[in-house]
Order: sequence, then C-alpha cells, then structure tokens
Amino acid sequence: MNAPSPQPPAVRTTCPYCGVGCGLLARPDGYGGASITGDPEHPANFGRICSKGSALGETLGLGERLLHPLLLQSDGSLARVPWPRALDAVADGFKRIIEREGPDAVAFYLSGQLLTEDYYVANKLMKGFIGSANVDTNSRLCMASSVAGHRRAFGADTVPGTYEDLDAADLIVLVGSNAAWCHPVLFQRMVKNRGERGARIVVIDPRRTATAEDADLHLPIASGMDSALFCGLLVHLADRCALDYRYIDAHTAGFENMLARARAIAPDLAATAKATRLPQADVARFFDLFRMIPNAVTCFSQGVNQSAQGTDKVNAIINCHLATGRIGRRGQGPFSLTGQPNAMGGREVGGLANQLAAHMAFAPADIDRVRRFWRAPRMATREGLKAVQMFEAIARGRIKALWVMATNPAVSLPRASHVRAALAKLELFVISENVAANDTVNAGAHILLPAAAWGEKDGTVTNSERRISRQRPFLPTPGEARPDWWMVTQVACRMGFADAFAYESAADVFREHAALSAFENDGKRDLDLGALVQLSDGAFDALDPVQWPLCRGERVQMRDHQRRFFSDGGFYTPDRKARFVAPERPAPREATSKAFPFRLNTGRVRDQWHTMTRSGLSPRLGAHLPEPFVEVHPADAEAAALLEGGFARVTTRHGSCVLKVVLSAGQRRGSIFAAIHWSNATASSARICDLVMGDTDRYSGQPEAKATPAAIAPVAFAFRGFALTREPLARDPEKWEPVFGKDHAQNKNLERDDDSNKSHPALALPRGTWWARVAVAKASGLLFATDDGPETWRERARQMFGDGAELAEYNDARHGIYRAAAFAAGGLAGALFIGPAAAAPQWDAVKPLFAADTLAQEARRVLLSGRSADGLAGAGPVVCACFGVDLATIRDAMQSGAARSVEAIGRALRAGTNCGSCLPELKRIVADAGLAVVPAAPASRPAVTTSRRLRDPAATA
Ligand code: SF4
Repeated sequence: MNAPSPQPPAVRTTCPYCGVGCGLLARPDGYGGASITGDPEHPANFGRICSKGSALGETLGLGERLLHPLLLQSDGSLARVPWPRALDAVADGFKRIIEREGPDAVAFYLSGQLLTEDYYVANKLMKGFIGSANVDTNSRLCMASSVAGHRRAFGADTVPGTYEDLDAADLIVLVGSNAAWCHPVLFQRMVKNRGERGARIVVIDPRRTATAEDADLHLPIASGMDSALFCGLLVHLADRCALDYRYIDAHTAGFENMLARARAIAPDLAATAKATRLPQADVARFFDLFRMIPNAVTCFSQGVNQSAQGTDKVNAIINCHLATGRIGRRGQGPFSLTGQPNAMGGREVGGLANQLAAHMAFAPADIDRVRRFWRAPRMATREGLKAVQMFEAIARGRIKALWVMATNPAVSLPRASHVRAALAKLELFVISENVAANDTVNAGAHILLPAAAWGEKDGTVTNSERRISRQRPFLPTPGEARPDWWMVTQVACRMGFADAFAYESAADVFREHAALSAFENDGKRDLDLGALVQLSDGAFDALDPVQWPLCRGERVQMRDHQRRFFSDGGFYTPDRKARFVAPERPAPREATSKAFPFRLNTGRVRDQWHTMTRSGLSPRLGAHLPEPFVEVHPADAEAAALLEGGFARVTTRHGSCVLKVVLSAGQRRGSIFAAIHWSNATASSARICDLVMGDTDRYSGQPEAKATPAAIAPVAFAFRGFALTREPLARDPEKWEPVFGKDHAQNKNLERDDDSNKSHPALALPRGTWWARVAVAKASGLLFATDDGPETWRERARQMFGDGAELAEYNDARHGIYRAAAFAAGGLAGALFIGPAAAAPQWDAVKPLFAADTLAQEARRVLLSGRSADGLAGAGPVVCACFGVDLATIRDAMQSGAARSVEAIGRALRAGTNCGSCLPELKRIVADAGLAVVPAAPASRPAVTTSRRLRDPAATA
C-alpha cells in the first residue's frame, strides 16, 4: 500500500442529513476517508453536531456505490457502458416519447438531497424546454403542507424566522416535531435557552417522544386534531383580549371570517379539550402560557405536514401568530423545521410541481417573466403532477418516462408496493444514484447513472432558516461518478438545448439561479439573491454561509443572523396584507374500524436517515435501534397478546409488515408507531410505507403518513439468532435478501474500484425467516428469527463458511442451541448463533472480536459462550452514539456509585456531552434506576409556573 499523501487541511462543508444544515469540518485522511467535526464558525450549529453528523466518516466507503453508467441489455441484464452512450440513451428516449406522446408523458422525480444547482437545471429543463411541469420531489413528503400554508397566508413560501429566535424565545411550542431526534442540534439550542434563560418548552404530539420527555408540558393530542387545538387557542386569545388589533388591522385580511370558523370548531376550552382528547387543565395551561408569554416561537414539522389536513394545521398555527402580531420579531414567529438538507433550496428553484421557479408561481406574468429570462422555447403553463399523482399517472400509463434523482420512492412513497409495480410499466426508467442497488433500482431501472455523493459534490444547500451554505468536495469522485447537474446538462445538450445549458461549473448554475431570483424583482418577491449574481468562481468557492433576504451590494458575510420577515407586514399578496385562513373542521380522512382498530403513526429514529443508504453504513449508528420495530402501549399490547421483544404483524388495507414489539407507555392508546427507515434492502418485512394510505392534503398534495387505520397481531418464532461475517453477505439479486448468490447482480458487470470481485459468504435463509441487516465494525451483521431449529442452521453454517475456514461449533440440540465460529488467517471470519426465542443469543460480546485481525487464544476459547474474555455478557444497545457508550457501561457506572446522575454520567463517561440527542434516554435510565435526574438549573424563570407533574405520563395519559 502506498503511503498516504500529507494530510490536507480541513474543508468547510455542510451536513447532508437534516434541515438544520450544520456546518462541518471534513479532514480527509488520505486513504479515502475523513474525520468530521462541527464547524465552530457556522451560525447554524456553532460547532455542535449530532450523532448522525459525527458518524459521517463511517459512511464514505465505496462498497455500495454505483461507479459506472449501466444500460439495460436485451437479455435483461444491466451492463456498463461509456457515459456518451448512456446520455444518448436518456436523451433519445425522452425525445422519442415527448414527440410521440407530448411533454406531459415524461417526468422528473427529484430529492431534497440534491444540491440547489442540481435542482435548478432539472427544473429549467423540464419546465422551460420540455414544456411540462411534471417535476416533483421527495420534499412533497416532507414539508409541502408548510409551503402551501405559507403561500396561503403570506402570498409566498417565506419562513419568517431565524434560529436566533430559538435563543431569544421565552416559550417554544413544538407541534408534531420530535426535534430531540430529528433536529438534534436545534433542540439542544432550545434546551440551552431553557437552562440559561428559563424558556418553557411545550410539545404537542400524540407520542411521548424523546422531545416530549424533555418538555415542560406535553400535550398527547389525538391524531389529526392540531387545527382544533390552535382554533381553540385563537378563541381563547380573542376572548381574553390578548390579540394585537393594531397588527391585525394594519397587516392582515380575513380575520373575522377566520375567527368565526375557529369558534365553530373549538368554541371554548371544554370543546377544545374534548376534540383533542386532552385533559382540560393541560389545554388551559398551554393557552395561558401562550397568552402570557409574548416571546413565543411555534415550530412545526412532519407531524403537522404529513397529514391529509396538513395545510390547514399550518394555517391554524400561523393564524395565532398573525393575530397576536408575533411574527418576524426577535424570539417570535411560526417556524417550519424542514426535514431534508436542501428542501429549502429545492423550494427556492421551484422544484415542486406547483411552483414555477425562484418562488414564482404559474401566474401568467410569472410564466412570461421566466420564459424571457430562460429564453425558453416551450414553457410549462400549468402546474404539473405532485408526487403521489405522478406515480398514479405512471401506473395508468399516462407517464411513460421517468428520471429519478437521488431518492428511493419505492420505499418512501405511500403504498410503496404499488409504486414499485407502477415503475415496472415505464417505457424509460432512468435513475441517477449513489448506490448500486436499492428498492427503486431493483424495481427495474433501464439506465443507471452514477452520481457524485456527499464529500464529492460541489454546490449549495439552504437550511430551515433560509441560510445558503456550501457543500464542498473533500474526496476525489470515484469511478465515473458525476454531479447530477452535469448529467442533466449533458442530456439537455443532446436534446437540442445546448445554448441554454452551457454550464461548466456549479458556480455557473448558481449565478444564473441568483440572477433569475433578482430578475424584475424590485422587492415584489421574497427571494432575491441579486447580491450574489456577480460572484466570481473564487468567491463562490469561498462563500460563507449567507442568509436571505440580502441587500443589493452588501458584503456577504457570515454573522448576519438578524434577518426576519414581516414584523412590519409587507406580505407578498397583491395588497401586501397577510391572509387569515379559516381551516376546515379537522378529522382523520379514514376512520378506524373493527378490522383496523389502531392508527399507524410513522416517523424517524434518532440515528438513521431516510432509507438508510448512507446512515445504515455506520456501525455506530446501527447500534442504537438495530431492528425494525413497532411501538405499542402496554395496555394495547396486553389486549392483543403482544410481548416486549416479540414480533407482531402490522396490517393495513395496503399491506403488512412483521416488526419487533417495543412496549412504550409514551404511545397513545389506540395508536402504534413504526419507523420509516427499513426497506427490502435492509429487512425481510419492514417497508412501512407499503402500509401507508395514499390520501393527500387537497392543497399541498402531501400524503397522510400519520394515521392509517391498522391492525396488529402477534407473530411467534421458535428461534432467534445472528450471523456475523468478515466479508459482506452475498445478496439475492432480485429480492435483495442477504443470501443465495456469490455476488449481487447489479455489480457483476462492473470493474469496481473496491472489493466487489471478492466472493461473499452466502447464507441460505430458510423460507419464512425474519431478518434485519445491521452495520457492524469490520463485519457484516444479520439478526434473524426463524422456526427452523439448530440442525438446519448447522448445515447452513457449514455451507456458508465453506471448507477453507476452521470451524468451532457448540451444539445443544436438546435445548435448541447451536453456535459456530469460523476462523481464517488467525482471525475471526464469521459467527452464527441460534437459540430459543425466549433466550435469544446476544451478539454484543461477539461483535467486538471482529475489530482485531487476529484473535487471542483466550478470546477464541470463550467465544462460543457468548461472553467476552473477561466473563462479561453483552454490552447492550449503544445509548450515546457520539462516544459509543453502551447501556451496560452506564448501568455499571451507576451501580458502582461512580455516576448517579445524568451530569455525573457525562463527566465520567462523556455520554450526552456532545450532541445531547441521548440526554432524554439517559434521564430515563437514571430515573428507572431510582436515581436523581439533575437537570441544569435555569438562570431565571418567567412568572408563569409550570408543574413538573405534567411530565409524568400518568398525569397526561
Ligand atoms: S442536526 Fe445532525 S443531522 Fe442535522 S444537520 Fe446537524 S449534524 Fe446533520
């Protein structure tokens, strides 16, 4: 191996995960990896990052990457082809179908993971040159209701506030937002405000999430009833003379009509409590807090947006802020927390089918303006199909060509199995992707284009507070991967639009995007990046994070976090007044029934991201919640005969999954929760969006992902076990199961730059086996449950490890136990353990043995006992992912007296001292042990007192 080149300096870039948009410092290690730390100068995070951000260095390997263009051959295989051939095939295919069927027969499906420059050229090609608006994005699933709510109220998709408002607020209301897990750095900023300034945190969420556990008041609201709560709040404020009529009169319209509707929905406290199924005293306390604390910020996220009435929920929240004039002022305002790293950048360029470009809509004047700016020959003149409708049109055969960029719709869209079936009908199915295979690729792609990944990409993203930051490359682009904007540009040139797509760099694209935002603007539109139009290539390279609105001619600098909208009105409606929107009476779209008596709620977990194609590569992140699970209230579980740690089949009208059962008193009775992350690539039966109904919000088109009627029933397996192998397990090319082949088909034609030519161990799973893949350091992990006993697994282990390995075995047929360890070249090559389900073997003591290339004799001797060489059992799940601190270590520290509080655990073990995402879990562990939870003492508290009793689940259930 060559010596690494001298270590280059740290590169300032931006995290590719959530909408907080943390600045990072990436230090390449010279071997193709990098260490990642927070950028202390970035105003989104000031150096803090969460567990996902700090584990990014573990996700940079090439093992799963798509590195060369692939084209479908006549024999049904995908074969490597040169770039020009792949691009010709894309351009010719789109041209052919457009000429034959018209422009609306083609579509692009984009992603909040794309950079703004990627988004811009894709949007321009489709809406200005192909002549259709069928360009939508996975951001439709994330925050389209916020966009629609902003546009209805403000006349534009404007987020009024800034992160600094979270430091200055005295009351922070989180609605449908598990920020402790999904926006961890922002949540810790809120917690810091509470500790230092005494701010109150109120959480409105059907589940008692990690965020709710850390709140001053948790309102476990009935699913879908947020509008009723905020209508009730508005009525309360009106009846207590707590409205700002000066602001209402000067800057708004529609107040009386909206108030009358609010009164009809929630006329008083009792009616509000009844509609929301909350204790009246808790509703009253929330109303009092909001009325008495002027500096209030209301943050909302997917729990609000992912609803068939999501836009009304957003407007019900905004109504309360407009009516009290609490908007655009320091520490005040409604605040949409975006899920994805560049959902906001996509909105800026018009990457949604119902937006045109640069925050312009499909009004005739906007269409004409954009046509002239782009010199577009074939402008789209009406909205295109939103995501769910787009895939329905594919299923009906109306759309015949689709280009999916950087997203996995066969996993993430509602009724995902229908999406997968629809994709098979496409005449032309193009995917630009980082990974060689996922559920969407496996749905029958015709052309695969290898896309540059995070760490290789060069461009910009915009975070939740409208701050544009650079994503900079710090690794060489591997194989033949290229940026998405380059691919789109190349295809556009081949379609005859070379003059309009003559970009040579991301900087070229960004300057044009900025120029369009400023074109004939003159203060008429919120988005105006005119100050950035003249950026040189060097200035673009060096661009500091910058927040809009920008002033023309001002020096772009980093510490400009004082910018807000609307404190003095100036909305983007014809009369410059905001609109109060009267919401419809809230009700879940589909009722529960005897057959489907539960509501299935879906969401994210702390340490995974989307469909795990990146975060799933990190062993550290995989150690927190390794298996797909369903959370059930203990009383519901008892009634349904479900056991903690057992399995359950969750069924809806659309499909079913088998998930591990986790009991949680924080789960609302009648509601169950499952995470969205697992797919057919990572688990046998856990693609939860297969189960989610396809109903959408009528204004935003965002699907209802939180309230599908569902049934749940126990599933029993006789045995459970795990397999660990030094080399990745081979996978079935069709089903993506971790079995059967010697290599997976998508890669077999590739000259990979990594290890794909090695043969992979193949473990043939018996039919009906439940399994989940887990990232493990220096190994590949599989957890499984089965009805096949030790004899079957003994045979499979021998087949898997082959003749070349030295096999040590322990077989206790009478007790249903089989354990095998394979050794090669002095080290551990693999292990397979199986035992009765009630006493499942644990892998915590075995996993670390793969870290060493060779294994000491003592470790080999005790390996099959499932205990470590020091006689200890497994370490248990990792609680603090940042410092890899596991549950057993924390319990040991508590039992020995070395640490008897959360703070002491932090001092002794560092757990919870970095991103803070695990603090709620640490508090629970300490409380469960009967020790003192010692929260940081607030410096001062406002006059209103809030009882800690309200954190007690018994008090709020
Ligand atoms: S909070 Fe975490 S996931 Fe989100 S941007 Fe920051 S480091 Fe990334």
